[in-house]
Formats: sequence, structure tokens, C-alpha cells
Amino acid sequence: MKNRNIIFSPSLFGGSFTNIEKSLQEISDSGATYSHFDVMDGNYVPEISFGLKFIQEARELSKLFFDIHLMVMNPEKFISGFAQAGADMITIHIESTKHIWAAISIIKQEGKLAGIALNPGTPVSSIITILPIIDYVLVMTVNPGIPGQKFIPQMNDKVKELNLIREKHGFNYLIGCDGGIGKPNIKELYDSGLDVAVIGRAFFAAKNKLSFLTELNDIVKN
Ligand code: ZN
Repeated sequence: MKNRNIIFSPSLFGGSFTNIEKSLQEISDSGATYSHFDVMDGNYVPEISFGLKFIQEARELSKLFFDIHLMVMNPEKFISGFAQAGADMITIHIESTKHIWAAISIIKQEGKLAGIALNPGTPVSSIITILPIIDYVLVMTVNPGIPGQKFIPQMNDKVKELNLIREKHGFNYLIGCDGGIGKPNIKELYDSGLDVAVIGRAFFAAKNKLSFLTELNDIVKN
């Protein structure tokens, strides 16, 4: 538990869209191994970001692990497309589909890792039956797709709850957090069970991204 490595997943949404090659290179150069893609449909969330072609082109430019976060209604319609565009892991929102088991099985059939995201108002109990078969739970620490949101400290309890369930049952899912993660909160989240830290604007705002992630890593390990 103490010596777990934290995985950083910088979100391209926080970088430049007109130069994704540069953004992807900055992620690789920072030592991060994951790249997080926030796909927004203007329906499930108010914002519209990017779609399949963006992922396809990014895939041609990078060997990073592609962590695709689908903030779209009825994600089951889009999963195969994103899988074939180059996703390594696909995360869908429990609130965005009436057919969560079908959606997760499409991700698995495509041979990708499967994640479920929970909005801040959605309890862990809503995904309890599916936890044994998923690879990742993404705890939203802000309401997604709405600008100017601040980290919601109560979400730390959700990370703890997921960690306890994982330990009790021997499940293998990783726990991620998305939204407002940084120096003030990463240590507490890590101690509660966080494995994957999604970092957006803070990552791209940092002048030296390698030292920024090194500093976050030192904070969690000390
Ligand atoms: Zn995200």
C-alpha cells in the first residue's frame, strides 16, 4: 500500500488543440505514461471537445497509454469507434447509460481496459455489482465539463470507500481522480487509495513539467 506508484495522466484538454504533437511530446517528456482524453459531447456535459479523428491522429503521433474518458450520452454507441481509433482504456459514466453491463462488455470485447466514472453526486453503491469485472474507477472530484469548478474535498471519502472494497474483496481495479488535483490534495488522496491522478490545466501551466510531476511524486511518497 505505501510503496504503490502513482500514475500521472495529463489531460490533453488542458493543452493546445492546435498542436497536439507538442502536447503529447510534453506529456512523454514529463515522464508521465498515460495521456488522458476528455471526450465531451455537449449533451452529457455542456462542453464539446473532440472526437474520433483527434484520437486517431494523436495515436499516430504517440506511444503513450491512451486513457479515454467518454463524457457522452449513450457511450455504448461510440465505444468500438474509440477502441479502434487507438484507446488503451475506455472509461464511461455510470450516469450516461441505461446499459452499463452491455457497455462494459463492448469495451472488453474490443480488448481494452474498462473503467467507470462517478460524478460527485453519484454514490459508490451505484456500481457495486459491476466492480468485480472492471479495471478502473474514476472518481470525479469536480462536476465534469463545467468551467471554474474547484476540487470537492468530500470525494476523498469516496476514494477511501473504493479502496476498502478493493482490499476486502481482492478486486484489481485502479482508482483515479479527475478535477482540481494538485499539490494541496494529492497526498491525502494517495493515502486514501488513489492510483491514477488526472491533471489538466495545472500540468500544462507548469513551466517545467518533469519537475512538476517529480514534485507531486515526492509529495505523495513523503
Ligand atoms: Zn477526464
